[in-house]
Amino acid sequence: MTTRVALTGANVLTCDRDGSVLSDQTVLVAEDGFIEAVGSREELAERAVAAQRQIDCTGKWVMPGLINAHAHLLADGRPLPKALMNAALARGIVGFWKTPLGRPMLRERARGFAQAELNSGVTTFRSLGEYDNEAVSLGRESESGQWLGPRIMASGPMLAITGGHGAELGLARVVDAPWEGRKAVRQNLRLGATSIKIAATGGVTDAKVVGEAGRPQMTTEEMTAICEEAHSAGVLVAAHAQSPEGVLRSLKAGVDTIEHGSAMTDEIIELFHDNPRSLRGWSAFDATLLAAAPLVEIDTKITGINNVVRENAKIVLDSMVQGIRDAIANDVVLGSGLDSSMTFTPHYAMWRELDLVVSRTGLSHARALESVTRVNAKMLGLESVTGAVEAGLSADLLILGSNPLDDLKALEAIDTVVVRGNVIDAPSVDTFDEIDELLDTLRR
Ligand SMILES: [Zn+2]
Repeated sequence: MTTRVALTGANVLTCDRDGSVLSDQTVLVAEDGFIEAVGSREELAERAVAAQRQIDCTGKWVMPGLINAHAHLLADGRPLPKALMNAALARGIVGFWKTPLGRPMLRERARGFAQAELNSGVTTFRSLGEYDNEAVSLGRESESGQWLGPRIMASGPMLAITGGHGAELGLARVVDAPWEGRKAVRQNLRLGATSIKIAATGGVTDAKVVGEAGRPQMTTEEMTAICEEAHSAGVLVAAHAQSPEGVLRSLKAGVDTIEHGSAMTDEIIELFHDNPRSLRGWSAFDATLLAAAPLVEIDTKITGINNVVRENAKIVLDSMVQGIRDAIANDVVLGSGLDSSMTFTPHYAMWRELDLVVSRTGLSHARALESVTRVNAKMLGLESVTGAVEAGLSADLLILGSNPLDDLKALEAIDTVVVRGNVIDAPSVDTFDEIDELLDTLRR
């Protein structure tokens, strides 16, 4: 149970496509954690006084909490020690996390990462690939109020083919036939998963040759079975897909959100708009630039990555940037994900993903903010729950000292985070200076 709170005199960022701002507004938050009313300060003055707590937001900006559509709770975002890319060792560590001794350690580690997301303004995230069911159980704790955390949609372990993306490192359930795919979906749903993640193509981090990153891996048949099974339970399917062919096959199978993505053909664009096998008749594109850009644009002497990873990252990055431009030009639903946990994507860097998309594709600040709030909510099926500052929605709000429509860096310093009506004053995050300095060099 939260207390009644009134945020008074704020500039409210509506996060619509035009970047509309309503000035001198009061936002009333009810005890149940939902937004009760949004209106002019004058109009709501009496009700604001009656609230148990008033927060003076004069000269400040209030916006919906951020939604990170692509998170992981695997690591803190610093470059992984090279040893962890050794398949046998990585599998050993994953094995340990699933032992009775490892499980509570894994959960507390994941909790720290989820807390860093929340304290940096991410009030909702979708976890797309876990060791076990750690994000699922944290999401439940947060939902039931046992823990003041963000809202979490979680996939449980990713599904991949033998030798596929994530499989060698022990990060995926291996499926090699349509019925194995169905079974893996059933296993994850039984764990409590609220989304399903598949590796449709190879990935940058574990590819062994140049060109492997986007190579199709899962067959359309396998993906179709997985989508049917997940959709029967009303659950959306997200596909890691990093080439036009991989994206096309995924969409044909009924995948609901394309993660990372690629440049688009007319056939791909048509399927995003009208996808008969998807859960809702359309699919969305969830780009993730920050997971690739540093690998390409920062000197490999500093990043320490090998040439295969760099070359694959470059192919993927160029194609993703084109894909975002294609999405903008053709009105494809364009979400935002950080791919947090990957090398150079710390959990507090959601604003940097938006900043990068803006500088590389010409997306407006207003549309970047729309993407990370309203559009992500729609993409994840949460538009009746969160994603805007409107009466009836969950009170997931940020109070900012400066206007992110002018500079997205405003999101780096958040005065207050409100999640489900719970106020977190002066939220603090442990940051990595050496990473942030490197990431600052990507800003344009
Ligand atoms: Zn990912």
